[in-house]
Amino acid sequence: MGRVKYQGTVLGVIAMTFVVGVAVATSVPAASLAAPDSFDNVEIDAFAGSAQSFDAGDAAGASVSRDGYVVHTPTPTPTPKPVSSGSEGGYGGAQCQAGADAVAESVAFSPVYPDGNRMSDPFGPRAEGFHKGMDMLNSPGVPVHAIADGVVIAASGNGGTGGVYTSIAHKVGGQAVCSMYMHFQDGSLTVGVGSIVTAGQVIGLTGRTGNATTEHTHFEMYGADGVRYDPIPFMTEHGIAP
Ligand SMILES: [Zn+2]
Repeated sequence: MGRVKYQGTVLGVIAMTFVVGVAVATSVPAASLAAPDSFDNVEIDAFAGSAQSFDAGDAAGASVSRDGYVVHTPTPTPTPKPVSSGSEGGYGGAQCQAGADAVAESVAFSPVYPDGNRMSDPFGPRAEGFHKGMDMLNSPGVPVHAIADGVVIAASGNGGTGGVYTSIAHKVGGQAVCSMYMHFQDGSLTVGVGSIVTAGQVIGLTGRTGNATTEHTHFEMYGADGVRYDPIPFMTEHGIAP
């Protein structure tokens, strides 16, 4: 797999307008302060939560079963939001599908951190609310790698609570698979929207931009429906689990 093969051009910062409608708890549990491994960046949920509007189509149930996992979608508002493909900043299902449609089937896969990392919060429910990704801890500046061949559908050098981040669309088994990485170091993003990436390509450096209390990558996976799912089964299937 091509490592450190920088093909992309930073096309510029995508001006993203997040409406972080949910006032997330601003306090960090005392226990989290003592143990770095149990910290978390609660506002990331708010960030990722923007894409939650894609879940709204499931409305009544507010419970999405996917790959054996049941995602209980919190529904803070009684009225489902319409699916909006144009205002989600490239991290929703429509953009994921469009990106996947534009690229060839991924022929290779790579761990986010080929040299290993520590894990913090996994995907799933937690005290602060549902965690839509998993937190992979590493030292400042450690390169972050794309998990598969694909095309960049979102990238920002200043993505609010997500910090410096990018999202990449892949085609795997004919299906749209998107991976999203947050909190890169300032100025370390090596790709821009439209960049074609290869599995293992360095897309940025581990940082703590946005709302993060230590260096880590908040990593999410989702598909054409925009619903986040646990990355571990996919990673295990493709031999790239952390
Ligand atoms: Zn996280």
